Amino acid sequence: MRLSRYFLPILKETPREAEIVSHRLMLRAGMIRQQGAGSFSWLPLGKRVLDKVCKIVREEQDRAGALEILMPTIQSADLWRESGRYEAYGKEMLRIKDRHERDMLYGPTNEEMVTEIFRSYVKSYRDLPLNLYHIQWKFRDEVRPRFGVMRSREFLMKDAYSFDLDYDGAKAAYYRMFVSYLRTFTRMGLTAIPMRADTGPIGGDLSHEFIILAETGESQVYCDRAYLEMPVPGADTDFSNDAEIAGVVEQWTTPYAATDEMHDEEAWAKVGEGDQLAARGIEVGHIFHFGEKYSKPMGASVTGPDGKEHFVSMGSYGIGPSRLIAAIIEASHDENGIIWPDSIAPFDAVIINMKTGDAECDRVSEELYAAYQAAGLDVLYDDTDQRAGGKFATADLIGVPQQIIVGPRGVANAEVEVKQRKSGERAVKPIAELLASLE
Ligand code: ATP
Ligand code: MG
Ligand code: MG
Ligand code: MG
Repeated sequence: MRLSRYFLPILKETPREAEIVSHRLMLRAGMIRQQGAGSFSWLPLGKRVLDKVCKIVREEQDRAGALEILMPTIQSADLWRESGRYEAYGKEMLRIKDRHERDMLYGPTNEEMVTEIFRSYVKSYRDLPLNLYHIQWKFRDEVRPRFGVMRSREFLMKDAYSFDLDYDGAKAAYYRMFVSYLRTFTRMGLTAIPMRADTGPIGGDLSHEFIILAETGESQVYCDRAYLEMPVPGADTDFSNDAEIAGVVEQWTTPYAATDEMHDEEAWAKVGEGDQLAARGIEVGHIFHFGEKYSKPMGASVTGPDGKEHFVSMGSYGIGPSRLIAAIIEASHDENGIIWPDSIAPFDAVIINMKTGDAECDRVSEELYAAYQAAGLDVLYDDTDQRAGGKFATADLIGVPQQIIVGPRGVANAEVEVKQRKSGERAVKPIAELLASLE
């Protein structure tokens, strides 16, 4: 991508309305544009990151056996009347009427709709387990939308829904999502700690919030420091092996970790004082087993091996990709801007032509630009006529992992400078060597 043809509306001033660093940096880097209270457009740079985050989420959902679908954002109130939630949900739900005066709503979540799909087709235990997910916009009329995309009203959610014959099956499905989440967040360079969360009237211990520790987090959380060092299962994890998956969950649920609502002083006191970590955290994912809460009132049942009808046991599993991006920035930035983990960076490298118009600088930059593209890498080429200082500031602000600096003096020696955004480390490299490394 040539920066001269790109749409990257960088803000020079720090926007006053932004209270936290991720919101400030997303606005300054031209990733998002606020359209109203809790409502944002994703500009080209932001959209690239959002797509990369969703790609990782998808790959790990698929690996764990979930199947992607796509359901509408606008739903019929009648479905929600079946589950009893149309009245119960309250003001967070945006209620609308269509031209026939029918009650509709903009989905804050999709349990009812997915249960309707399930009950229409699946009749036998032989078709289970089943886990359907989608990545879709949700609307929740939050009391206090704030912190940019961290708590917005319209936001992107990956929500998965599992269907099983009985509790044991549902628990295995829950465990698969648990492990899938560990892998998902690690791939984005994050340490997300699964913390026991409130199960409300359903009870049991199958509810975990995945929390990223950050001072600006809205939740108070308590956990054992052991989580900071715990190994995350690799890409070779066998999701069809229930025992292997249960082993990982066992390991990841043994040290103490709970959100404020579930905090238990007695158990907390047993954690060695040096290992106690009381901190603020951001909820980036939430998994929840709710059994027959929807299947029973909505009549979603299958015939079991015993020939009898059983209401399916369900769970739901959410991740907020838009919130995640803000959380990643909270965890990874410095005074100059964002520092993207490689896996979700909008570009792998940026070529900074320090003297656009200089024949040699242009030639070398173009050659490198073509080589990066041929290597299948996402590369941004700063071919604008801005001053070098401004180009460096932009590159740091937007957080691209690698900067290739092409200047007249280096080019005269057949060299460029390569700067790592994260460490700040700079190294002079022969152009031929850099080109060879891309082949
Ligand atoms: P919170 O406690 O922050 O209000 P929630 O518990 O209501 O979140 P869930 O219903 O568990 O959220 O939804 C799953 C995921 O969707 C959350 O873990 C979070 O990542 C994301 N999410 C929820 N609400 C918002 C929001 N207003 N803006 C951005 N992301 C959100
Ligand atoms: Mg909420
Ligand atoms: Mg919550
Ligand atoms: Mg939640």
